[in-house]
Amino acid sequence: MRATKIVATLGPASNTPEVLTRLIAAGVNVVRMNFSHGTAQDHIDRARMVREAAANAGCEVAIMADLQGPKIRVGKFAEGKIELEPGAPFILDSECKLGDQNCVGLDYPELPRDVKPGDVLLLNDGLIVLTVEQVLGSQIHTKVRIGGTLSNNKGINKQGGGLSAPALTAKDMEDIKTAAALGADYIAVSFPKNATDMTMARQLANLALDAHAGTTGGNKAQMIAKIERAEAIPLLQEIIDASDGIMVARGDLAVEVGNAAVPALQKRMIRMARASNKTVITATQMMESMITNAVPTRAEVSDVANAVLDGTDAVMLSAETAAGKYPVETVEAMASICVEAEKAGISMPDKDFLDQTFTRIDQSIAYGALFIAHHLRAKAIVALTESGSTALWTSRHVVSLPIIALTPNQRTQRKVALYRNVQSFQMVQTGEREAVLRSAEALLLSKGVVKKGDVIVVTIGEPMGQAGGTNSLKIVRVGERN
Ligand code: PGA
Ligand code: MN
Repeated sequence: MRATKIVATLGPASNTPEVLTRLIAAGVNVVRMNFSHGTAQDHIDRARMVREAAANAGCEVAIMADLQGPKIRVGKFAEGKIELEPGAPFILDSECKLGDQNCVGLDYPELPRDVKPGDVLLLNDGLIVLTVEQVLGSQIHTKVRIGGTLSNNKGINKQGGGLSAPALTAKDMEDIKTAAALGADYIAVSFPKNATDMTMARQLANLALDAHAGTTGGNKAQMIAKIERAEAIPLLQEIIDASDGIMVARGDLAVEVGNAAVPALQKRMIRMARASNKTVITATQMMESMITNAVPTRAEVSDVANAVLDGTDAVMLSAETAAGKYPVETVEAMASICVEAEKAGISMPDKDFLDQTFTRIDQSIAYGALFIAHHLRAKAIVALTESGSTALWTSRHVVSLPIIALTPNQRTQRKVALYRNVQSFQMVQTGEREAVLRSAEALLLSKGVVKKGDVIVVTIGEPMGQAGGTNSLKIVRVGERN
């Protein structure tokens, strides 16, 4: 079993039931829909396709709606793309309708007010570098410092950060409604500056989701803060506290803080998220060369493996699966790198708990189960859970012992699809406790996750079926009742 989860972005290379089915078979746990591209109806249709492919595969795949945020992008080109030569002049202009060799449109008309001559603008994740020469009305006249191919809708960043755009744009507010309508399990907020941005996004999402309780069974979406602004770094803890998880969004972050600062920040963010009982996704350019090549570079293999060793819940693919030549091969390669890296193992640091006081009964049971399962060398922790919280807490500390969430709630299954080391199965949990435990054992045996004689540590709530009700744990030798 692979513990680390894989997030794959949908796009032209993967928007068909056939490719989606193969991606899921190759190990995709979360499908990311990039709201920077496509119409609301496109996303709704694609979400249906994801749900169908997952149902056919018999597994639960989460959908993550990734909001565009105040990402500034160039417009489209008449020819789809252009080639920029070093030293050439180039104009960014919100009035330019269709781009060519001289100019391209901008989706943020305020940009001229935020830049001055001498500023450095980075396009396409920093691959293309422009220097601002002068600002004339809506036009930003630049000179190409580092050239290359520039295609439709590529992003623009200002070196050092400091753009005035608010975190949630009018488009994001509309897109949150679409995300709710398609039953998104996760909503990723781009460029939050502080905790307030996340709180506001969550309020809007909850409002929209309330209107779609039919799609979501009343369950709220999990809010992911994409850490990709220089301003967010000193406020990491408050942003993490206001979110359900974070994304180490290395693309924009690298441009804002300088790429050499990113690896250490990645480690810090992963550590902080886990210590705060939140999830974390490591994203961008993990297998970049596989957009065109059938095998990854040695550096990419190391990058994915290091994110696994850092303790990330998930590794993410962007253009590799959205627009690459080898979407399925990329996921296969990534999955095998994860499995191999996980063998290096990180065991539970008991010292994490030395100075802790537990305030919640359910959380205390989760940590108790973790302690026992680890020291007893049990086969698995089995959490009979309504909300998935027990699976979250236990998965923050152990990577060497599988955690199995048994839940009647399909939305919970999709939520835990992102959690490192957590596997889930659907199970109705009504009736008397011993009968429920017996059917849990039968289910685990039939799925082949445990064998007769294995010792497992089970957490359960009494009375059953209440979220937050976990209050007992039982050590079970599978197949031996007493
Ligand atoms: P994006 O976010 O791909 O939506 O820009 C991820 C990142 O910036 O790394
Ligand atoms: Mn980004």
